[in-house]
Amino acid sequence: VTTQVVGDMQMIHPDFAITLEDELHDAAWAQIYRNHMEQILIILIDNAIKYSRNRKEVHVSLGVSHNSVDLAIQDFGEGIAPDDVPRVFHRFYRVDKARSREKGGNGLGLSIAKQLVDGYHGSISVDSAIGSGSVFRISLPLLTDERRAELQKLDASTGEDAYSAIEK
Ligand code: ATP
Repeated sequence: VTTQVVGDMQMIHPDFAITLEDELHDAAWAQIYRNHMEQILIILIDNAIKYSRNRKEVHVSLGVSHNSVDLAIQDFGEGIAPDDVPRVFHRFYRVDKARSREKGGNGLGLSIAKQLVDGYHGSISVDSAIGSGSVFRISLPLLTDERRAELQKLDASTGEDAYSAIEK
C-alpha cells in the first residue's frame, strides 16, 4: 500500500521528490484495512507537500521494531512550534489560521489520521523544528504469526484482502 500511495503521489506531484526507503528485510504484518492505511498516508504526504518550502522533498520510510511496524513521513518544510505540536492532532486546529486558509483545508486531516491509528491500537507522533521540517511517525502493532494465519483464513473465506496492508 505504501509503495502504491507513494507512486500515486509522485504522479500527482511531479515537481516533488517523494521517495520511499524500505527498511523491512523480511515479512512484517500489521492489521489495518487497506483503505485506512491509504487514507493515513495520503493525509501525511499531502501535509508534507502543503507545508513544504523550497526543498521539495518528502521521505517516506518503512521499518519494523520488535513489536511494531513503523512508518515515517519526513518533510523539510516550515515545521511546527513546540507549543503547537500536541495540538495539531486536535480537530479543527490549524497553526497559522490565516496562512493555513490560503493553503486550503479544515484542520481535520491529522485528527482523522490519529483516530484511525488509535483504532488499531497504534500511535502517531511528530518531531518537528520550526524552519527545518517535521517527521510524522506511525507505529502499528506487529501481528503474531498465529494471528496473521487466522486473518489470512478469514480473508480467504470472505474473498477480501482487508488485513494485509503492510507486507513484503
Ligand atoms: P485538512 O483538513 O485539509 O487536513 P489541515 O492541513 O489544516 O487541513 P491537519 O492536517 O489536521 O489540517 O493539520 C493541522 C495543522 O497542523 C495544519 O493547519 C498545519 O498548521 C499543521 N501541520 C500539519 N502538517 C504539517 C507539516 N507537515 N508541516 C508543518 N505544519 C503542519
